[in-house]
Amino acid sequence: MPFYLSKKVFKQQTKTLVAHWPFGAIKTTHARNLLGQFYGYKDDHDFQKTSINHGIRTIPVTQELVLANYVNWVKKLADLGSMNQIQAKKLLHQLWPGYLSNHISLHEKLYQATLRFHGNCNNFLNNNSEISELVYRFDDRPSIKDTIEACGIPHPEIGAITINNQWVEFGHQLQNGDRVEVYPNPHKDASISMPYKPSGELTFLLDVHLKGLARYLRLAGFNCLHNDRDLGDELLAEISSNQDYLLLTRDIGLLKRGNIKYARWIRNQLPQAQFKEIVDHYQLRDEFKPFTRCVKCNGTIHQIQKSSVRAMLPEDIFDRFTEFKQCSDCKQIYWKGSHFEKIQKILDEARQ
Ligand SMILES: [Zn+2]
Repeated sequence: MPFYLSKKVFKQQTKTLVAHWPFGAIKTTHARNLLGQFYGYKDDHDFQKTSINHGIRTIPVTQELVLANYVNWVKKLADLGSMNQIQAKKLLHQLWPGYLSNHISLHEKLYQATLRFHGNCNNFLNNNSEISELVYRFDDRPSIKDTIEACGIPHPEIGAITINNQWVEFGHQLQNGDRVEVYPNPHKDASISMPYKPSGELTFLLDVHLKGLARYLRLAGFNCLHNDRDLGDELLAEISSNQDYLLLTRDIGLLKRGNIKYARWIRNQLPQAQFKEIVDHYQLRDEFKPFTRCVKCNGTIHQIQKSSVRAMLPEDIFDRFTEFKQCSDCKQIYWKGSHFEKIQKILDEARQ
């Protein structure tokens, strides 16, 4: 059933619509027809004809009715005028200023959805719960990826998402009343799961602050790019996404960059614990190749003839050891000195 409003109010609202149309000019006839449709008539002509029968086949517009229909009306106006929710809200507040402004703020969010965060997702929400829940308010139709990041969780940490019990992609748009479940990476049982780690041999890319972790990863033989100079967020994100490198950082903001696919926020502070964290998270126990990579420069190291290193080493080292290795890039020489057993122990502990 259409809504009743007087021809005087209709005429005023046509003027308002023309004056506040978000896309510049709109013809008065178009504005009249649009308003007619908005209130449930076929067009302006239909309104002029039918609205006379107030009380018989129409519903009078009252303040209560405007307030009760607010959410639906914003959506309807947005659809009819091909505008976004914010523009539709502004227009609606212009059309019914006395009725709306004191009751519903223009800045009040229209819709809400309930999000539940599972497991490690809660690391970003300052709680230790296994599952936490929050109500998210929004206008328009945000993607679920943007919504979850707005709640604090960077997208590379997400393993899978359901909305109303359906697995969804990152681009899925949130709607009023949705119930969302967010699972951490990795989530292999989902029919749609998010990027977790690149296939094949991994290459890690570490931000400038993770030098200690880089050393441990290299000791275990993992290809691990780290620069003593700060490359900046933009460049790190670009290198990671172009090469499918797995980015490791303690900077949550960096992980929210849209082009990043494979990445993790390092939870631990100390390098040895960080190393264990990575071994566990990416299941690297069986992929160690200890003492094959230079801890200084990430180059590969290979066995070298003892006689060829005589000039490069202190005499006592040369006398005490028989086996030597050398980095093919920076030429650093390695031998199984006093550090060897300690390092071996750390590597073994990380594999447990
Ligand atoms: Zn080297």
